[in-house]
Parts: sequence; C-alpha cells; structure tokens
Amino acid sequence: MNKKEALKIYHEHIEKIKAYDLVLATADFDSSTIAPKKGNAYRNKMMSIVQGEAFPIQTDPVLVEAIDYLNGIKLDEKMSREISLAKKNLEEILRFTKEEVMEYALVQMNANDAWLEAKQKKDYSIFEPHLLKLIELTKQRTLKKKPDANVYDTLLDDYEEGMNMKKYDAFFKLIRKELVPLIKKVSKKQDFIDDSFICKYYPVEKQERFSKDLKKYLGFDPSWGYMGVSEHPFTNAFSRNDVRITTSYEEHNVISSIYSIIHETGHAFYEHQLDPAYDRLIELSGMSSGMHESQSRFLENYLGKRESFFTKLYPKLQKLFPENLKDVSLEDFSKAANVSKCSLIRTDADELTYPIHILIRYEIEKMIFNDEIDLHDLPKIWNQKYKDYLGLDVPDDASGILQDIHWSLAYFGYFPTYALGSAIGAQIFHQMSKDMDVDESLSKGDFKALTDYLKDHIQKYGNLYDYDRILQIATGEPFDPHYYTDYLKEKYQKLYEL
Ligand code: ZN
Repeated sequence: MNKKEALKIYHEHIEKIKAYDLVLATADFDSSTIAPKKGNAYRNKMMSIVQGEAFPIQTDPVLVEAIDYLNGIKLDEKMSREISLAKKNLEEILRFTKEEVMEYALVQMNANDAWLEAKQKKDYSIFEPHLLKLIELTKQRTLKKKPDANVYDTLLDDYEEGMNMKKYDAFFKLIRKELVPLIKKVSKKQDFIDDSFICKYYPVEKQERFSKDLKKYLGFDPSWGYMGVSEHPFTNAFSRNDVRITTSYEEHNVISSIYSIIHETGHAFYEHQLDPAYDRLIELSGMSSGMHESQSRFLENYLGKRESFFTKLYPKLQKLFPENLKDVSLEDFSKAANVSKCSLIRTDADELTYPIHILIRYEIEKMIFNDEIDLHDLPKIWNQKYKDYLGLDVPDDASGILQDIHWSLAYFGYFPTYALGSAIGAQIFHQMSKDMDVDESLSKGDFKALTDYLKDHIQKYGNLYDYDRILQIATGEPFDPHYYTDYLKEKYQKLYEL
C-alpha cells in the first residue's frame, strides 16, 4: 500500500459512512419532530438495522489497514490529526460486534421514547427500567473501551478531550466558592427587578412570527438552515449547508423559545462555518461538546443577554404583543431577561444559577459511575440536591429528574460541558470585546460581524485542536475559568446593585 492508495481507501470509506450518518440523522430529526408515536417501535428497529449496515464499512479490514498505514507516515497537520483520531475511534469500535452495536442503538432509541412518555405523564416509573439498563450498558461498554481507566473519566473525555474528574472537580470548586455566596445575596433581592410581564400570555402563533424576525437578525438563513419544533430543543447537522435546529414554545414564557433559538443557532453556525476542506473528513468536522456549547452559550448569553441585542428586535416584539409590552421599555425588558432566580428547569435558568444546575448533574453522575449510590434513589437524590443548592422543592419528576433528554440517550458525561462551554465563552468574549465594539454591531443589527469573528477565531478550526489550544490561539492564553466567574460577579453585582 502507498500513501495515495491508502488515502483513496480512507476517503471512499468515510464517504460511505457519512452517507449512513446522513440517513440516520434524517430519520432521527424526523422522529424527534413530526413522526407519529405509534410508529416508534417499527422505526427504531429499522434504524438499528441501518446502523448495523454501517458497521462492516467502519470496521472493514481494508480500512483498518489504510488507517494503520497512514498513521505511521508523515502527513500534513490536518490529515495527521484526522487519522490519529480515526485510529483512536477505530480501536474502540473494534472491541464491539455488529450485534452489540445494533442492540445498543435499539435500547437507546426505546429509552428515549420511554423518557418522553414518562415526562409527559410525569411518571418516572415508566423511564426507570430503561435508565437503569442504559447505565449498566454504558458501564460495560466504557470498561470494554478502556479497561484500565475510571469509567466516569472515560465518559468525560469522550465529550471533551483531555477532561477528567480531577479537572472538573477543581473547576466546580471555583464555581461553588465564587458563585454560591453571590446567588444567596441576589436571592435576597427577589423583587428588585420586575419580570412579571415575561410570564403573561403569549400565543404560540405570534411567537412563531417573532421567531422569523429573530432568525433573520441572527443570519440563520433558510438556504442552509431549517427550524422545527420538538420537546427538547436540539441541533442536528446533516452537512455544512444543511443544519437543522428545533425549538419549543411556552405560552407563558416569552423568552424561553427566544433563547433556545439563539442557543441552537450558535450550534448551527459552528457547523455551517467549518472549513469546507473538512467536508471530506469525519473527525475534524466532529467538534467536542465543550467547544460546541461554548459557541451556543456564547450567542445565547454573551450576545443575546445584552440590551443592545434587542435594539432592533424589541420594537418588533412590542408590536406583536402590545397588550403585554407596550409600557415596558427596552431597558426594563433587557433587565427582566437577565433576572436571576433559583428555578427548577436547567434550560430556562439564568446565567448565574445555570452552572449550579450543571454542578448538581455532575455530582449525581459521579456517584452513579463510581457506584456510590443505590440507583433506585436517583429521584430522591436529585430532589435533595435542588433543595440543598437552590433551596427548591421539586413538585414532580417532570420538573426534576425527567426534565432533560440527555440520560435517555446515554449522554452520560455530557452535562459538565455546558458549564465548561460557558466558561470558555467568557474567555472568548473578553477577547472579542477588546478586538471590536460588540454593542455597536448588535445595535446596528450587524450580527454578521460577530459570527464572522467567531468563524475566524474559533469555528474554522473544527476539531483540529483541543479547546485549550484553540483558546491559546484565539485569546493568547490557556483556559482560565476566572474570566467566567469574574464576568458573572461583575454583571450581577451591577444588575442588583450589590
Ligand atoms: Zn447546546
């Protein structure tokens, strides 16, 4: 085998794997948005078969030989990273059989359906057996992948290369130390900012009209992006020029869908603004979760929570809902969008209490995968943590342990990347504010200037480097979580006049 032959084999196989990925992503988007429930069992079975069909291509001995060959010779920087990641993944996949892959896919999809039903019926018992099975399978699979490593460390590294419990423990210790006292002070001034108008009645059909203006302002263009509605908002990229996002609307919370759209659009831009050279690759176009969340939470919080973000948009919102907003100024609306309140639902949480929601999930996952708890106590433990950290009583499991989709998809180890991503975003925002006038771009409606900045400084790299290296290049410094805690302290002390 020579280099030319090996590369040809590699690219041909990747193209086929990507074809299967496209089919599966399409079916997945369809099933999360419009597919009737009664077809779930049949569809899940068919999807697991499709997944099984991709397995012989992923593990084809010819491909294995080509990757081994390429891994041993000199390649350019991009190809060298692509191949080394492909080799790592291949070694993991080769530990499983086609039947195991198909079974796992089926268990996951069925668990996801059970979760949705359990959440809608507020009945954890529907989901519990599925969750326990997923936890057991995840433990087994993770140990099979890396027999000598701690299971939770492996899971954390899967979602953010280089992360482990030691690093996250230090990170969350800082969060606790810096933010918990501030949250306590803010919660003593609960009526300081009036946000009562946010929860008035906002008919969905009119919210949908505003979504159109919002997408236009953000530059989420229908030529490459599509938005649907689902229970839990998500982004699914079929390719760089076909990125799907979803939102969900609440009649009594006008900012819920606004911020979920901004968040998912942040993910969408990351996929859309990748280097076109990555179209033929699979590893460099698959970014880590922490970096991905840094981009979504960047748009949602560091840009979307600024008053200037609404300069152009707010008059349109007022016009749609005069009965609720005609006497509310832009400044007061913006303040209300930033109110910090201990609340039950992670996706609706404000910037300040948000990392505490993640801390809770991190602590629970750590206990699960280090075998420190009886798994039947999970809802009890969840509720106790919300009481301890946020002082809240969880009225039902739908607002508690069932609120997030992640565990039903076996995304264990994913949650911490939300807090990490938020902290990465703070460091990028600090640099961006030095390099350009963010508020001027926002109030002029020139959102493109901001997404272009993210493209040039972060997004174009895709998965070429890990998060620390990208931060070094973009900000001249390695990751420093103090940018995050300092940002939150300064912002909320000012907002609440503390
Ligand atoms: Zn996200």
